[in-house]
Amino acid sequence: MPERYDFLVVGAGFAGSVSAERLASKLNKKVLLVEKRGHIGGNAYDFYDDAGILVHKYGAHCFHTNYDDVWDYVRSFGEFNNYVHRVRTCVDGKILPIPINLTTVNALMGKQFSEAELRAYFETVRIRVPEVKNSRDVVVSVVGEYFYEKFFKNYTFKQWGVYPDELSPEVTSRIPIRYDTDDRYFSDKHQGMPKEGFFKLFEKILNHKNITVITNTDYKDVLESVKFDKIIYTGPVDYFFDHMHGKLPYRSQSFEFETHDTEYFQEVAVVNYPNDFRYTKITESKHFTYQKHHQTTIVKEYPEAEGEPYYPMPMENARKQYERYAKEAEKLKTVYFAGRLAQYRYYNMDQAIKQALDLVGTIAKGE
Ligand code: FAD
Ligand code: UDP
Repeated sequence: MPERYDFLVVGAGFAGSVSAERLASKLNKKVLLVEKRGHIGGNAYDFYDDAGILVHKYGAHCFHTNYDDVWDYVRSFGEFNNYVHRVRTCVDGKILPIPINLTTVNALMGKQFSEAELRAYFETVRIRVPEVKNSRDVVVSVVGEYFYEKFFKNYTFKQWGVYPDELSPEVTSRIPIRYDTDDRYFSDKHQGMPKEGFFKLFEKILNHKNITVITNTDYKDVLESVKFDKIIYTGPVDYFFDHMHGKLPYRSQSFEFETHDTEYFQEVAVVNYPNDFRYTKITESKHFTYQKHHQTTIVKEYPEAEGEPYYPMPMENARKQYERYAKEAEKLKTVYFAGRLAQYRYYNMDQAIKQALDLVGTIAKGE
């Protein structure tokens, strides 16, 4: 290892790995990337299981973006397939499209609405809220109470441990309501999955002579022994500051993998179970990768209150607590905070990448 690094980057997810790559190849900086897990890739990490099927270790990760620069960037490290994400949800024993669309309503209610008739119907059932203040308002103000209860209320409670009226609007706003038969989960103009998987993509991103990667190491354990000028930090912000303003709340998840002796288990990659079971969804990753295999592996996602921090809590009191950390972060001129955990925001992969690209762009301008 060199004597001195220009940057210590903490965390080998998208925020950390893309920052490291840009610093190394664009600015010719020497970077030490420290990751506490046994692998690179952060939550997007995937691997071949015992059956030989490529699966996502930390839940389904689908790539989608409207940022042209992010799309060009990821594809410069490997080819992407043309996978477009489609999700179904199991309501009243029926497997229906989610986001709610014309097909969903007609199939659930036994109707033959046209697009115009559906709009007119929602006008009659929607609840007129004076101001959209929470995640319940987002939904009931468009589709009313019945659809809210069937599709959102219980799923959200399982996922977050609280009902939508306690969560910021940004949570359920992620899911559009459609009047036509478009059943894509995301409307983004760029969608696809890395053909060789995310782990291989990360290997290519980090394959640079200026980057040294160490895994299985908490960055605090190297602070004394390694010399560096600046830090890019992508771990939990409260941990960085030794929880000086208290522990921030996070939601966690556990995953139960099952391999089945059938080519496909379900018709699409993800089926949600809003009202039954303790898990929220079943994911079958062969749909993402188009992998040919006589067996298939599915994963059930169980939300958990304790465990690895995956989701910052999108609640007002948590945001206020985070703001206290953000103020501490602003005082540090040689530490940059990026990504889902360090900025305590519900970012998608492309947003984490975008942040890293923009951050290194800003660092470059300052030099
Ligand atoms: P992470 O990927 O979490 O990387 C942070 C890294 O820092 C981790 O590897 C962690 O181990 C490491 N670290 C933490 N503390 C330390 C420390 N003290 N020392 C050293 N290393 C440390 N996004 C999408 O775009 N599409 C999806 O379909 C999607 N599905 C998701 C499903 C689930 C279940 C979850 C949890 C997230 C999903 N996301 C999805 C979001 C996606 O995972 C994040 O946007 C992305 O991982 C953010 O990258 P990041 O680098 O900020 O964080
Ligand atoms: N949601 C829901 N029912 C669904 C899908 C989503 O209630 O069938 C709500 C839930 O609160 C979830 C949020 O919408 O957390 C955002 O969904 P998304 O699929 O974006 O969540 P992710 O799995 O990416 O965290």
